[in-house]
This record gives sequence, structure tokens and C-alpha cells, in this order.
Amino acid sequence: MELLDGKKVSTEVLAEIAQEVVSLKQQGARAPHLVAVLVGTDGASETYVNSKVKHCGIVGFESTLLRYNEDITERELLDVVQRLNQDPNIDGFIVQLPLPKHIDERKITLAIAPEKDVDGFHPSNVGRLTLGLPTYVSATPLGIVEILKKYNIDTEGKNCVVVGRSNIVGTPIAILMTKNTNPGNATVTICHSKTKNLKEICATADILIVAMGKPEFIKADMVKPGAVVVDVGIHRIADDSKKSGFRLVGDVKFDEVAPKASFITPVPGGVGLMTICSLLLNTLKSAKKEIYS
Ligand code: NDP
Repeated sequence: MELLDGKKVSTEVLAEIAQEVVSLKQQGARAPHLVAVLVGTDGASETYVNSKVKHCGIVGFESTLLRYNEDITERELLDVVQRLNQDPNIDGFIVQLPLPKHIDERKITLAIAPEKDVDGFHPSNVGRLTLGLPTYVSATPLGIVEILKKYNIDTEGKNCVVVGRSNIVGTPIAILMTKNTNPGNATVTICHSKTKNLKEICATADILIVAMGKPEFIKADMVKPGAVVVDVGIHRIADDSKKSGFRLVGDVKFDEVAPKASFITPVPGGVGLMTICSLLLNTLKSAKKEIYS
């Protein structure tokens, strides 16, 4: 078994991005600029946004964090989005989800200009992904693709089972794995909560991608010997033996499954670390006008 080491790969990708920023500046361009919009004080959202901003600094991007109180109205937030859409000095921006209940997340996502939607959530970008056109692929699926690519995982003609059909992970990674690309060209099955015989279907997978949000759900008897296992799930489990009081686990029972797998992503240290790299890669593409010109 070999680990698909998100820490190692993300360090490499960050170095590659930093190098590209240096080249851009040498050609007289400004550094790519990412803006993060944070509404309210949700602890997890703060952590994610702070990490995104910190990583911008690491690769030499400009970044701006815009904070708004929980009671910002939907209209006011839409105005913020419009201003960011029109600002030529901003290459991309994200509105950190979840938003307070009185704001319709779908309306906000739709208001973001597709050219600046570096999260890849706008229907235009999802549509382009489906059609195989250049697009901003959402961060987690792009992170999975990058890690498979770096480890030269052969996906062509393989059976790929994706557990989970969310708009941000399961569905886009399943689409990407069907495409005539590398990684891609797999024969893909998507599973969800209504799937019958999940265990048997998972056990047919040469490549098993799990994004179900159920801690340590996938056990060894659900995995084919030699499978490549990508675990997207991330959960805090109370653990008194840790200083923090918790440990992180994925959707896969790692200790059982790892000895059976040929490659597996650990949690932490797997897919999660790739997610921020993907956001930066999308922002770089925007700055270089690679998707929309
Ligand atoms: P969602 O809750 O949006 O989707 C979960 C999916 O799993 C749904 O499609 C659901 O089916 C399916 N599912 C749930 N239970 C079962 C079951 N018993 N059998 C089969 N399918 C099931 O989650 P996300 O896609 O947003 O996230 C999945 C996990 O990945 C979470 O743990 C999340 O925290 C993590 N995550 C990690 C990221 C990272 O950077 N590492 C980024 C994003 C997410 P149905 O549609 O029928 O309800």
C-alpha cells in the first residue's frame, strides 16, 4: 500500500503556483488577486477562510478578506457581489458557505460572474465541466484529479465507484472520471443513500472515491484488494487521549482498508490539503485568462 500524500503533493503544487506568479510579475503583470467574503462568525468558516488567505500569501497572491455581520441583508450581499464582479483588479472571489438562513445561497451563487467564480459553483461553470469545456472545476474534485495525476494512477478502462452525489464533490468528480482525459476514461458508478447493495458495488471498484459524510463507514469488506481509495470525508471524533480533545477521521475506516488498498488518501493529510491548492490554481487560471478571455 502506498499513501496518496496530500501534504507532499500540495507542497509541490504550491511551489509550482509560486513560480508562475514570479513569471507573471517578470512579464509586468500584477500578482493574482483572490477575495474571500465571510458572513458571520461561524468557527469552521473562519478557519477555512483564514487558511485560504494564508495560502495566498505563501504563493505570492494578493488577497482580501471582506467580513460582514450575520445581519447583512441579501440585497446588500448581492451588491457586494456586483462590486467584486466589476472590479478589474480582482481575478476571483469566493463567498464562504454556509450563509445565514435569511440569505438564499443559490441567488448569491448565480450572481457571481462565471469568469470570477473560482469555486466553480456557478451553473455556467458546472455546465462547461459537463460539456468538457475549459472551466473552473470546484476545489475538491480538482484536488482529487491533481493527486491522481501526480501519482500516475491509471484510470483508463477501470471501474470507478463514487459514493455520494453532492453538487460540490460526488457529481463533479464522477463526471470528470468519465471524460476522455487523464485521469478519466473510467467506467463510473455513482452511489447515494438510496443505492441498494452498496457493499457489493463498492467491492467492484478499482478506484473507490468516497464523499458521503459518514465517519468510517467504508470497511475492509467493501473494498476490492488492490483498489485505489480516495477518502473525501472529514470528521472530528471526540478523543480524550489527544490534546485537542478530538481526532480527525474520514468516511473510510483507514486501519482496516489501507492494508487491502494499493493506494489510499489519509485523513488528515489527503484530499483536504489539495482543496486550497485547487482554489489557487483556479485563481491563477483566471489571472492568466485561460478559461474566459
Ligand atoms: P453531502 O452531505 O452533500 O453529500 C453526501 C452524499 O453521500 C449524498 O449524495 C448522500 O446521498 C450520500 N450518502 C449519505 N449516506 C449514504 C449511505 N449510507 N450510502 C450511500 N450514500 C450515502 O456531503 P459532501 O459531498 O458535501 O461532503 C462529503 C464529505 O466530504 C463530508 O464528510 C464533508 O465534510 C467532506 N468534505 C471534505 C472536503 C475536503 O476538502 N476534504 C471538501 C468537501 C467535503 P443522498 O444524495 O441520497 O442524500
